[in-house]
Amino acid sequence: NSDYNEDSTPVRWFRINTIKVKAESVLKKDPFFKNLKQVHTIEDLFNCLGNIYHDEYIPNLFGINPREKITNTNVYKSGKIILQDRSSCFPAYILNPKADEDVIIDACAAPGNKTSHLAMLIDNKTNGIIAFEKNEKRGEILKKMINKAGAKDCVNVKIGDFTRCKKNDYQNVTKMIIDPSCSGSGIFRRAVDDMILQKNNIEEELSLKKKIDIGRIEKLSSFQFSIVKFGLLFPNVKKVVYSTCSIHPEENEQVVIDLLNDFEIKSKNWRLCSKDEVIPQWKRRGWKKEFIKKGYSIQDSEDLAAGCVRSLPKLDGGIGFFAASFIRE
Ligand code: SAM
Repeated sequence: NSDYNEDSTPVRWFRINTIKVKAESVLKKDPFFKNLKQVHTIEDLFNCLGNIYHDEYIPNLFGINPREKITNTNVYKSGKIILQDRSSCFPAYILNPKADEDVIIDACAAPGNKTSHLAMLIDNKTNGIIAFEKNEKRGEILKKMINKAGAKDCVNVKIGDFTRCKKNDYQNVTKMIIDPSCSGSGIFRRAVDDMILQKNNIEEELSLKKKIDIGRIEKLSSFQFSIVKFGLLFPNVKKVVYSTCSIHPEENEQVVIDLLNDFEIKSKNWRLCSKDEVIPQWKRRGWKKEFIKKGYSIQDSEDLAAGCVRSLPKLDGGIGFFAASFIRE
């Protein structure tokens, strides 16, 4: 599972796959889960076996201690539960697709965590999702994951470059998730994590990393801008969620700002969703200073940054992550 890394999270998150099973039947009947004690904060999971936490943000998402042998369970082996970091569940939840209204493109889909989450949210509607994946090998993994999740009829997998598809062939598409390749700086190695936690100075650590990696980050950020722009120019798409597992502002807020200032995108009436529309209870939001640096007023910077969601590795109970959502009425 791409999201999960022993070293990067103090909590192992899993989603009950309601395509295959009802949450209650896992929690109350499965021999592994029925004896777990429900706790009310993720801190109760740290260094403590035998507990389960029901997430307050994402429906059907639960956390347990990473040392629990969850991958030995039958519900895991049969795709009734899916391991997926909490913040990686944000994009599909923010997109809020409706089975009776939406057809969705998942533009960068493998290994398919967000795709299978989307399928679940639209009740596994037949032909509800088109999932692009450029890399052939990863595309095969995506297909396996979709099968395992029971979403084969819902997801139409296309192996190929999303930015080379013909937009006009997708007149029926209304919503989109774009989760492109990124630096992965939200998925830290343990040593770096501990250093950050000790110093509690993520910006210092980031500027150090950036000095080493600036060329790569610039390339990624221009790729991220162009792939999201491509998505925003689809004829009938009304909502697009952009996400990364990076904590660098160049791949996050700065991509959002460049998109908001792009002439073609402006002419299509896109705006950034406000805090109220993007998991408002979640406390960690985008970085205001990135907007101020680009000349936005203090108030606009506050509002735009609040429209973005961030999570920090470990400190927020999982990987580092960023998500922002664009909408047009
Ligand atoms: N959304 C996935 C999930 O939640 O499981 C993770 C996606 S991963 C961050 C990015 C993926 O996008 C990689 O598998 C990469 O091969 C694919 N990719 C990169 N550029 C692409 C493009 N132009 N068209 C389609 N897929 C692309």
